Amino acid sequence: MQFNKIIGHAALKARLIGNIREGRVAHAQFYLGPRGSGVLPLALAYATYLLCEDPGEGDSCGQCESCMMAEKLAHPDLNLVFPIFFTDKVKTCEPYMADWRAAVQKMPYMDAEMWRASLTGENKQLRMGVDIAADVVRKLSMKPFRGGWKVMLIWLPEMMDPAMANKLLKVLEEPDPRTVFLLAGEGQDRILPTILSRTQLVKVPAIGPGELAAALQAEFPDLTGEPAHAIAARSEGDLLEAFAMAEGSEDQLFVFFRDWLRSCYANKVEDYASAGEYFSKMGREEQKALMTYALHLIRQCMLQWQDLPQLVTAIGEEMDFVRKFSALLTMGSAEGIRRELETAHAHLERNANPKVLFLDLSYRTSVLLRNKEVAV
Ligand SMILES: [Zn+2]
Repeated sequence: MQFNKIIGHAALKARLIGNIREGRVAHAQFYLGPRGSGVLPLALAYATYLLCEDPGEGDSCGQCESCMMAEKLAHPDLNLVFPIFFTDKVKTCEPYMADWRAAVQKMPYMDAEMWRASLTGENKQLRMGVDIAADVVRKLSMKPFRGGWKVMLIWLPEMMDPAMANKLLKVLEEPDPRTVFLLAGEGQDRILPTILSRTQLVKVPAIGPGELAAALQAEFPDLTGEPAHAIAARSEGDLLEAFAMAEGSEDQLFVFFRDWLRSCYANKVEDYASAGEYFSKMGREEQKALMTYALHLIRQCMLQWQDLPQLVTAIGEEMDFVRKFSALLTMGSAEGIRRELETAHAHLERNANPKVLFLDLSYRTSVLLRNKEVAV
């Protein structure tokens, strides 16, 4: 992965490259950012630059042997560590390496859920245990194969269990001068403070809307400017969310959401139950994209209703819906539905049963729309 493949983050990329060129290479760096911001691509681009035999002012050369190997995630001095399904027999990353490479090459912005979904095996928990830390220590004890830097990249360090984190702490405390640790994660609050205090934090912001819109149009050539910008704004800089929205086609999401809300408003239990049936068959990413889209439309209704039409970005049929539906909402019901959708989104992230979740959401929304108190 080269810096030029990364969407947005121009200032951050320039700063990272500048630091390397001026010889300021922190031995432990923690790339921390929200989902879909590109923490892993950035850490990979940094590693590639560090290992490159002929790095330029703006990027790694992309042509030397080191760059070629790094591109394939197969550089002997680029050690890759990531969460795995633990079994009695498999406790280290190596047996999963081919799968991980393939998953990252397919979507370098992937999150834990996408990685989990790409592996076979049902409902297993991803984790990183002490055996992985022992493997890290062993690899660190070896000389760099190519005589330059040795990089230890740990993806999603927030998934390390305490035994692994503690073992890792020891190597972070006594770093080898030619070794660089790159941690790339999304959850600062789930990582040991002792690890955090030993790393230099590289804050990765969400991708800017203009850059994300351009990336969407490059990926989906049929997407024109207006919807691309609308999706970029809605996804709040999360590339995975934006791609899921573009793939799921906004129109389908809109029709599904509109029909579902109508069935809730009319309290047609059979209709929203069959919508729940359909919902439970969508992929997890699409389900989350639907919740995000629904939240966006409810906010649009609230803006319309609060007489802030300049902030309403809905177009065409959507706009028509926003106008009509906002007239049916009250401050209380709109706020209640917004909260229910947010809760549903959070539960989906924690792998809730989609069918149960959707029925519950439908029931609560139906009650809210008919202006009654929801029983807690
Ligand atoms: Zn190179």
